[in-house]
Amino acid sequence: MTLPTCLTIAAFALAGSTAFAQTDEFPRCLADLKPAALAAGVRSDTFERHTQGLVADLTVIDKLNFQPEFQTPIWDYLAGLVDVERVEQGRALLAQHADVLAQVQQRYGVDPATVVAVWGVESNFGQSFGQYPLVQALGTLSCIGRRQGYFRGELFAALRILQAGHIAPERLVGSWAGAFGHTQFMPSTFERLAVDFDGDGRRDLMDSVPDALASTAHFLAKAGWQGDRAWGWEVQLPAGFSAAGQGRKNRQPLSAWATAGLRLADGSPLPAGAEPAGLMTLAGTAGPAFLVTRNFDALYSYNAAESYGLAIAHLSDRLRGGRPFSTPWPTDDAGLSRAERREVQALLSARGHGIGEIDGVLGDRSKAAVRAEQARLGHEVNGRAGQRLLQALRAEAVPAAPAASEPVTPSSSSDPARPS
Ligand code: CA
Repeated sequence: MTLPTCLTIAAFALAGSTAFAQTDEFPRCLADLKPAALAAGVRSDTFERHTQGLVADLTVIDKLNFQPEFQTPIWDYLAGLVDVERVEQGRALLAQHADVLAQVQQRYGVDPATVVAVWGVESNFGQSFGQYPLVQALGTLSCIGRRQGYFRGELFAALRILQAGHIAPERLVGSWAGAFGHTQFMPSTFERLAVDFDGDGRRDLMDSVPDALASTAHFLAKAGWQGDRAWGWEVQLPAGFSAAGQGRKNRQPLSAWATAGLRLADGSPLPAGAEPAGLMTLAGTAGPAFLVTRNFDALYSYNAAESYGLAIAHLSDRLRGGRPFSTPWPTDDAGLSRAERREVQALLSARGHGIGEIDGVLGDRSKAAVRAEQARLGHEVNGRAGQRLLQALRAEAVPAAPAASEPVTPSSSSDPARPS
């Protein structure tokens, strides 16, 4: 739906988005959205109650427009998402919620380890929901910036969720882009796939673990997950193997892969009679290689990234007792677990760098401190903390704590919202 007023505002916002927040342009844009909201099933009183007096939050536009200076290497991404802490916590939760997970598996055909792995990657098992009030974030994104049409649909869905009473208005908070709850569903995904598994009449992905676990399994089942099929396997490639033309979707029978010389990571033969699988490498053939089935596509569909799918797949294997990848990533400076990131932050702090809260999230202030230490140590100065920096800092005699430590303020990086 075209709303010319809002498009004009978008151009205005680019010229001076700070001014936007202080004018009546935003309330006018919201008011202009009302007819479309009503046509989309939002009642007039619902719309008024939740948009009255709403102020644009321009930090979400900053997030929308953020361009990382360099892409996070896959080994950093996975080292933080699949670490010992998350594996141990996930195993404890598997035991704690065993009954519900068994019922979920019976109804949707998705095994407990896979469901809990999604939970762990999406919201750190319900500990990182994001802090953006959803109607405010989606309202802002509906009036300023790129993809306004998409975000309007999500805004209307969020208002319908509130209208139906599934979640209390003050509890509807999430990522800057509108994903919320244990499963980090977008509002439209909630409407399609969230389920009331605890039977209290509400689909509550904020405060009901049974609803959240069942909704995750429902999502995967609808995405094609089949319970009698593995997501895939780490494999060994034969020497000199060329992966040219291969990919996740280029599936062949495992017998063909066996003929080509591929074996499981431990050197044993590929399973017989399994589903066709495609070859996936995320850092070339020198790094870990995987044969992945259609079940991997179901994981992929949750966030449309192979790295993301691999994080869930690998975490699920680790929850089942599996080992880290057999083939190391092709780097001489491997990534850090969250515990190691906190250690780096503590070591930086002990050297007088004001890095804010020691939270394992290496944000702008931590990166600036990393750069300073890299320069001092004669390392490549790139702001990335890996094993090389950690080992170097550990090896030094710990300097005395600064006499007057800098005031500790929340790091600008401590925002737990997911980037999408
Ligand atoms: Ca419920």
